[in-house]
Amino acid sequence: MNTKAIITSALPYANGEIHLGHVASTYLPADVTTRFLKQKGVEVYYICASDDFGTPILIQSEKEGKTPEEYVEYWNKRDAEDFAAFDIEFDFFYKTSSLENRQFVQDVFKKLDHDGHIYESEIIQFYCNKDKKFLPDRYVVGTCPYCRAIEQYSDLCEKCGRVPEEIENPHCSICGETPVKEKTKHYFFKLKNFSDKLSEYLSGNQNLQKDVKKYVQNWIEEGLIDWDITRDISWGVPVPVDGVNDKVFYGWFDNHLAYISSAVKFLNDNGKDGKKFWNESDIYHFIGKDIVYHHYLFLPAMRLGIGEEYKLPDYIPTRGHLTLQAKKISKSRNWYIGLKDFLQIFPADYLRFYLVSINPYSQDDLNFDWDEFTTKINSELIGNFGNFVNRALGFTVKAFDGVVPDPGEFDDMDKESEKTIKDLVSDVGTLMEQNHLDRALKKILQFSAHFNQYFQHKEPWKKNPGTNSCVFLSVNAVHSLAVAIYPFLPKSSQKIWTQLGMNGDVSTQSFDEMSKIVINQGHKLGEISPLFEKVEESVIEEQKKKLGNNI
Ligand SMILES: [Zn+2]
Ligand SMILES: [Zn+2]
Repeated sequence: MNTKAIITSALPYANGEIHLGHVASTYLPADVTTRFLKQKGVEVYYICASDDFGTPILIQSEKEGKTPEEYVEYWNKRDAEDFAAFDIEFDFFYKTSSLENRQFVQDVFKKLDHDGHIYESEIIQFYCNKDKKFLPDRYVVGTCPYCRAIEQYSDLCEKCGRVPEEIENPHCSICGETPVKEKTKHYFFKLKNFSDKLSEYLSGNQNLQKDVKKYVQNWIEEGLIDWDITRDISWGVPVPVDGVNDKVFYGWFDNHLAYISSAVKFLNDNGKDGKKFWNESDIYHFIGKDIVYHHYLFLPAMRLGIGEEYKLPDYIPTRGHLTLQAKKISKSRNWYIGLKDFLQIFPADYLRFYLVSINPYSQDDLNFDWDEFTTKINSELIGNFGNFVNRALGFTVKAFDGVVPDPGEFDDMDKESEKTIKDLVSDVGTLMEQNHLDRALKKILQFSAHFNQYFQHKEPWKKNPGTNSCVFLSVNAVHSLAVAIYPFLPKSSQKIWTQLGMNGDVSTQSFDEMSKIVINQGHKLGEISPLFEKVEESVIEEQKKKLGNNI
């Protein structure tokens, strides 16, 4: 395992609040992985930024009578607060509109241009006579020429994940009129120059998901299309060419460069050589499947185009979309749940637990279901996990005054349970390293289910011989659970740690500690209380009623 890593997750667009769909596929898996790598002793930094540029932000800021700078400043701050409330712990949360990113984007453009990867071309652009403006990207909707999905943005089909060469049946998304076509000059990035190198990179990188690689390779075989990287709007990174004053870069040219510019700034500010650190690290970009094209083609091609001055990604963990009660999330139809609203009703760890448990390492979509949420929390998190922790610690307090007894001799059942503790680190660690976070969490639940049964079988309340060994091993199993569950449920993990009477912060414990018997006889537990509260049906019914209700 590399001793250094940089983790990023897809940048939130600074144009609205974070909702459950955002966190499921990217921020949560990235946060869990970062915490895991920290436990493994890797020097890892989790870097993110708000994605500040683009037409939608410009238009919306105008509507609200703010400058775009003021507008994105608000969302940058609000996003950071929402993420913090969900215990998404970025080492640095910056912005694509930072001075560092603007400079970096312009430098990258100049290098690409110098090496012959940029050309200028006159294009025909949609123009709305009614709104009197060019209509780039999201301002035109129509039918995807590849998969025939209707009402797709002209710059991205959300159905098949591709960037249409030309959308069919176009109409203005502001007023609905059919736009006319006007001439304008744009800059293009020669994506075609990189077909072979991209193909080599994809086939050579064994960490990338096979199924994603397969369809990206198909796109390359079908022939890549050069990429229009400028827009006729005022809000963006200015194109650094003399005499060009009215053009900025397209958001997808500048936003992923903020992974690098933000990481380098953070590392430099912390007394390191940011560029060197980047190139020595394992690079992870966590994304949802809607932006595969951008992360498997544009992003590596641009890094190849500047001579791999910054290394290409080692991992691009790609996951499916979240649906809500089996329907597509939609803010306009109020079929969505804001992260902030959710966290005012339930603890962050409930959502973290549920979302990880339903989220495989694959392109499959996942579905948030209120009834399933209730069952998972009440029976798995509370009935299994929480119950064992409370039972083991509660009994030790009741029968031994909270002092861990001398275990004496181990019988066969004890020995088996001791082995279960010893095996936990490899059982969970292997799955975590392979990005199978859902399966790793399941292993932890199997571990606590095992100890629930063990406790039940040994019947320590009868004070038979073997009571002491059962209590001794159960308390140590709780210690194992505290360490194992930390990347998933950081708050609950710390609560268990404190109840165990351990000093300091569980986050500083190394991953291997979960398989060690470290709590010895004579150790005094802390104060015990239930970790979780059951989810009540009535609260869930209320939540269900809110969906789809336009107030
Ligand atoms: Zn499509
Ligand atoms: Zn219009």
